[in-house]
Formats: sequence, structure tokens, C-alpha cells
Amino acid sequence: MKIAILSRNSSLYSTSRLVEAGRSRGHRVRVLDPLRCYMRIAQNGFAMHYKGRALSGFDAVIPRIGSSITFYGTAVLRQFEMMGVYTPNCSDAVLRARDKLRSLQLLAREGMDLPRTVFGDYPDDTADLLQMLGDPPHVIKLNEGTQGQGVLLAEKRASSQGMIEAFRGLYANFVVQEFIGEAGGGDLRCFVIGNRVAAAMHRQAPDGDFRANLHRGGVASAVRLSELETEVALRAAATMGLGIAGVDLLRSRRGPLVLEVNASPGLEGIEKASGKDIAGEIVAYLEAAAALRKPLVAPRKKRSQG
Ligand code: ADP
Ligand code: MG
Repeated sequence: MKIAILSRNSSLYSTSRLVEAGRSRGHRVRVLDPLRCYMRIAQNGFAMHYKGRALSGFDAVIPRIGSSITFYGTAVLRQFEMMGVYTPNCSDAVLRARDKLRSLQLLAREGMDLPRTVFGDYPDDTADLLQMLGDPPHVIKLNEGTQGQGVLLAEKRASSQGMIEAFRGLYANFVVQEFIGEAGGGDLRCFVIGNRVAAAMHRQAPDGDFRANLHRGGVASAVRLSELETEVALRAAATMGLGIAGVDLLRSRRGPLVLEVNASPGLEGIEKASGKDIAGEIVAYLEAAAALRKPLVAPRKKRSQG
């Protein structure tokens, strides 16, 4: 196969591992900086150029689009789709996953449990909005934040109010959630490839923090998921329409809660914690799925897509 990896930096761990895995399985692999892909959209033909030359003949494209270039990156990915190139994570699914609020709405509709979440705009409604949520502590998070940035804990109602006012003053979109204290600063990252969880890790926040992101100093260790956790992770990825996903779960008193579904999950932490060749498994999945030209995901109830 001829595989494109959309990534701004070929020396990133995830990107270089995918290149290595693809080549070692006999494929031609090229890393393309999405910002250097430019395109023509016309009724009689889609075309894409890269640094002055036409791109063609790709069988599959793996998007690794950073959150700072979501708009441009997903436009490039969509152009590949229009040109008939297979992708495990289509542009619509990537966009869906980037929006936490939208993701939570879709997951809840599918019957998945998550931290109770509220969202509102008008300052006069804040008191009632927090009433709908319940007692603090609350977690306030930027709707399109990543790597734990913009995820704050408010212990008291007054601090919730203050943070909400501050975010509003910055015209930021944010959601407010119940704080799941019993997770103890830990979460589960489930790495989904197609219809199975290829690996999972437990991440523990450093002392004094509640955010388990590895970028915030979280420590990863291998973990065995329960049957229910595995099922929830697969359903969450399928609901989002992602063939490859990092599903984050919290272990709560009422069972596994879905926190978010990442469309470009990093490989470094999960490969090191699990000792597995995740990049190789992704390429093997591409080989099977590209032949069928659709993501292989767990079966789900038929419903219109959000
Ligand atoms: P990001 O996209 O920045 O990773 P997340 O929603 O995944 O944002 O939150 C980052 C981390 O903060 C999670 O991995 C988890 O450890 C912690 N966290 C987030 N929301 C909650 C919550 N409602 N209750 C307890 N911990 C949370
Ligand atoms: Mg996260």
C-alpha cells in the first residue's frame, strides 16, 4: 500500500513509529505536513498538491492532526476522502471528537454514562445552571482543550462562579462537570483499534493534581480492563465513528464513565506501558480495513449521526 501520514513533524514519536511500522510491513509511507497540502475543488475533479507537486496514488491516510490546526487539517483529510483515499478516522469523526460538548451529547444519547455536565451562556442563568449540576466540587474545562490544559477544579460554589465568569470574560467555550473524586486522580486510557481494545493503561496524576494526562506529569502503568470497561470503550469509539481512538474512562462508584474520545491518541505512553507494538497493529488494521474501504468498528444500534 501507499500510506500518507498527515503530521506536522516526522520526528514525533507517534509519527516515526507509524512510518517505521508501515515500512517494515512492506508499504510505501510518506509523512505530509497538512499545512503544505493545498487543494483544488471542482465539479470535474479534486486535486491536491504538496510543495509544488501533485499527490496521487495513496491507498490510505492516517490523520495525526494537532488541535491547533483542526480546521485546515480536517479540510486536507476531507480532500483525501473526496479523492477516494481510505482513512480509519474520517474528517467528520475527527471534528466531532474535537468538540467535548458535542461528543458528550452523542455518547449520552447512546446510553453511555459520563460525568454529569452542564453548559450555558447567559450570566444570569449561572446560579440555576450550577443547581442543575449539583453540589461542588466541579470541574470546569475548555471545550476544545487538550492535554489537560484548561481543565480546572473548583472546590466551592464561589470558585465555580468565579472561574465561569473568567472563562466568559475570555469568550471561551467551556463545560462544567461533576468532579469524580473517587477516581483518585487516576483514569484509564483505552487504545481502540477497530473492533478491539489493543491496549490499556492506568494513568495517575502527580501529587497535588487531579489531571492524569501524561503531558501534565501523570504516570502510566499497564492495567487489565473489566469486560464492561472494554465494552464501553468500544461503544464510545464506534459512537464517534472512529476506527482508531483513545477512549478515556474514569472508574466511578456507579461504573465506568466516559471522559472523552481522542482521535489522535499518542503512541509513546501506551506502547511503553503495555509493551505492545501498537503502531504495527494500526498498520495491520489499515491493511484489512482499506481493502473493505470502511472503518471496522464494533456493531452499534442504527441511528442518525450527529
Ligand atoms: P483533556 O482533553 O485536556 O485531556 P479531559 O477532559 O480528558 O481533558 O481531562 C483531563 C484529565 O482531568 C482527565 O484525564 C482526568 O484525569 C481529569 N478529569 C477530567 N474531568 C474530570 C472529572 N469530571 N472528574 C475527575 N477528574 C476529571
Ligand atoms: Mg483527556
